Amino acid sequence: MELERVTRSYVLGSVQVTGVDDVSLRIEVPRFTVLSGPSGSGKTTLLNLIGCIDRPDTGRITVLGHDVGRLQDDALSDFRGQHVGTVFQTFNLLPVLSVYENVEYPLLLARVPAAERRERVMALLQEVGLADKRAHWPGQLSGGQRQRVAIARALVRNPALVLADEPTANLDSRTGEAIIGLMRRMQRDKRIAFIFSSHDPRVLAAADEVVHIQDGRITGQGLQQPREVAA
Ligand code: ADP
Ligand code: MG
Repeated sequence: MELERVTRSYVLGSVQVTGVDDVSLRIEVPRFTVLSGPSGSGKTTLLNLIGCIDRPDTGRITVLGHDVGRLQDDALSDFRGQHVGTVFQTFNLLPVLSVYENVEYPLLLARVPAAERRERVMALLQEVGLADKRAHWPGQLSGGQRQRVAIARALVRNPALVLADEPTANLDSRTGEAIIGLMRRMQRDKRIAFIFSSHDPRVLAAADEVVHIQDGRITGQGLQQPREVAA
């Protein structure tokens, strides 16, 4: 994953607000990387660019060897669906679908045959420990359980890259710790890249690599020995 001199700003009325400013960054895969910085530093902007949800104003972004800036909208969303899984701070589950159906949804969009859908959804629900809750509605689950569903949904198409925007921000510390453990286990088992934004010190300490961002600029990047987290 590589960004070369990437800039993205927002226009708010007559003022221009910098999201990320001339960022060059290379993240090797598979690794568990955390983007760390204070609120407003550009973490979400950066994740949206890496995740092909947004496009830069200038600069080049290469994801898994593809120059994603050159892709047309349809090709970009296909690329995202196939290779990138996303977990949001607020879980973003569809409230009218069951747990099972929420995880199945990306496979329906990808026209995966029914038998294979069932197999993959059940396997992931087992992995996140929610097979017995498959018929529940999201509204019947705790925050930690909803985040597990969101993780299962992000992984169901076997992406090479999983992005998560402050995935523990809305969880109490014990639940957050369990979610960090789950994500670490998934990253190791599946040997895929996880890139998170967080200012949660427990998430930072569990990472292989930390990228520091401030005022839309990268201020540091380093590898570390991750702390062990019970899965
Ligand atoms: P973080 O996720 O680290 O809190 P963001 O990437 O959300 O930071 O925001 C970076 C900067 O860009 C902030 O100054 C924020 O106010 C601004 N920004 C983000 N999204 C928008 C938007 N849609 N419209 C206007 N300004 C935005
Ligand atoms: Mg943010």
